[in-house]
Amino acid sequence: MKISPQLDKILGKAWSDIPLDRQDCRYLLTIDERSYESGVLRAAAASIIRSKNDNSAIILGQVGVDVTPCPGGCKFCTFGEDHTQFEEIHLSDEELEEKIADFCKYDDLYGLYLMTMHEYDLDRYLQIVRKAKSLAPKTTQIWANVGDSSLDALKEIRKAGVTGIYHVCRIGEGVDTKLDPKDRVQTMRNALDAGLELYTCCEPIGPEHTVDQLVDNIFIGVEMGITQHAAMRRVAVPGAPLAKYGQISELRLAHIVATISLCSVTVPTMAYMGVHEPNELSYLAGANIITAESGANPRDCQSDTSKNRGMDMARSRKMVFECGFDYLRRGDESKIPMNIEYLIKTDSLI
Ligand code: SF4
Repeated sequence: MKISPQLDKILGKAWSDIPLDRQDCRYLLTIDERSYESGVLRAAAASIIRSKNDNSAIILGQVGVDVTPCPGGCKFCTFGEDHTQFEEIHLSDEELEEKIADFCKYDDLYGLYLMTMHEYDLDRYLQIVRKAKSLAPKTTQIWANVGDSSLDALKEIRKAGVTGIYHVCRIGEGVDTKLDPKDRVQTMRNALDAGLELYTCCEPIGPEHTVDQLVDNIFIGVEMGITQHAAMRRVAVPGAPLAKYGQISELRLAHIVATISLCSVTVPTMAYMGVHEPNELSYLAGANIITAESGANPRDCQSDTSKNRGMDMARSRKMVFECGFDYLRRGDESKIPMNIEYLIKTDSLI
């Protein structure tokens, strides 16, 4: 069966390391994810991404540090101040210690995110970063997931030991959230100016979003010099105002992952491609980051997501194996061969 000349041309560019433009991205997103051509696109994206790093994947951990009703008010997030059911939670030093010990038991966690709300106490956050830095192995990087921040605050965060930050200008920012898209993008610039790596994501994707909205969102990251890009579908969390629109399938998410992978792979700083939440179809379409989560999570109503939607380390390792990656990378880029022996050794043959 033949593919269209246009898809053939775009894949030819991708195989030759020629950057894809917005038109290419738009075309790829118009392909039906149930079609043969989508299968070709997803396989090509996986092959190209895997060929760049010896077929390796990484596991990240995320800990929700502080949970308060959030003034960000995002209509898709369980913490939005107008609809949250969460009680305030502030992770204690002991709990942080316990979680890091759990994530890092086998010294194979690439990076650990410390997540807080849109408004946060910088001094407390810096203290937590320093504590996490002292507890985690040298082969685990410490990363931040914080609200909009000034250049000075991000310089402090970097000085405390953070390598990079996750920050996003969301689809519908300023409409489905109370935040200003300009402030979101400025924080991303501040992070780069502070010497931090930037990890971003096209999110939160819902069935009602148009191809043009996705293209505009994807290219914010592509044009900024990101180290990681990703795709996240919006989860129809009960009680969140946008839950009424439903959610896209994992197959559609994988198709979008493949598209973003091919649009990002030529960014000189680009290293890894994420997907939220972890799913096999996306790991066969270019994604190579699995995020294990513990504590509060914006896509979950449970106060400890590892007991509900979140993946733990054992399930994450198993997924890396099942999706055919040859190596797991630590935060210093050293490689651990991924095989049955490793799953047995790390209690992950579940
Ligand atoms: S997504 Fe972030 S900024 Fe928005 S309500 Fe949730 S925690 Fe706040």
